[in-house]
Amino acid sequence: MLSYRHAFHAGNHADVLKHFILVELLSYLNQKDKAYWYIDTHAGAGLYQLTEGYAAKNAEFEGGIARLWQRKDLPEPLARYVEVVRRFNPDGKLAFYPGSPLVAQAVMRRDDKLRLFELHPSDSKLLEANCETLGRQAQVSVGDGFNGLKSVLPPPPRRGLTLIDPPYEDKGDYRTVVKAMEEGLRRFATGTFAIWYPTLQRTESRELPEALKKLPAKGWLDVRLQVQSPSTDGFGMHGSGMFIINPPYTLAETLKSVMPLLADALALDQGAGFKLEHQSA
Ligand code: SAM
Repeated sequence: MLSYRHAFHAGNHADVLKHFILVELLSYLNQKDKAYWYIDTHAGAGLYQLTEGYAAKNAEFEGGIARLWQRKDLPEPLARYVEVVRRFNPDGKLAFYPGSPLVAQAVMRRDDKLRLFELHPSDSKLLEANCETLGRQAQVSVGDGFNGLKSVLPPPPRRGLTLIDPPYEDKGDYRTVVKAMEEGLRRFATGTFAIWYPTLQRTESRELPEALKKLPAKGWLDVRLQVQSPSTDGFGMHGSGMFIINPPYTLAETLKSVMPLLADALALDQGAGFKLEHQSA
């Protein structure tokens, strides 16, 4: 059953962490004058209106992008991400938030390609409409992104970034992510893969990064942003993480310098903070 709609969460603290890192990973790929593919297995709708509809309901963006929006003191990597969001709000009012496909496209070059998967019938229609102006640069497939991943690996230019960002409402997603990564690394061992995950008290969420560390990859980086203390009832998301397989060698240093400010800016209580671990070959 597909009950998850990303519009309810657009621009929240988890999107900020995910999309800020996405901009960093793609900016690194841009340093080389050779095209690459960006693969998004769970792409969402592509663009979200913040002022009405689902996103306005709980206004989760107020604890996320809205806290960075007006700041003039952001370090360059964070400013670069906020600048991408600004492009979707040219009159200076925060009214739209781009999802991962459009964040990525804003950073990518003309010859780089997007391969996007979305299963939800309504969100996939919105995604197709939001990608229409991109023409052949973007291909939207309506269907299961875990399965679809096999069909696009390795990407023909042998350079690529894959974002895996499932809803995890079905706890089977945790296991499927690890299986998809085993297969993904078999097909494309040198690719960069970014896996978003929620930090919850449920066992599966705590075990996921540990399982990913055991994959046969050359290197990994795990960064977690906690915005509040875990609740006493054991429910709810207190933060999220990005696990990067084959990260650029510059990413750990960038995050060391930026995460303290990000954790402070998005803090909801004294429990806010971050954790960064990485290992290279
Ligand atoms: N990546 C998007 C972003 O950052 O803007 C947000 C994606 S949202 C967390 C997860 C999306 O996955 C939802 O739009 C949901 O409909 C979709 N979805 C759920 N199961 C899927 C599957 N097996 N394959 C592809 N999409 C799926």
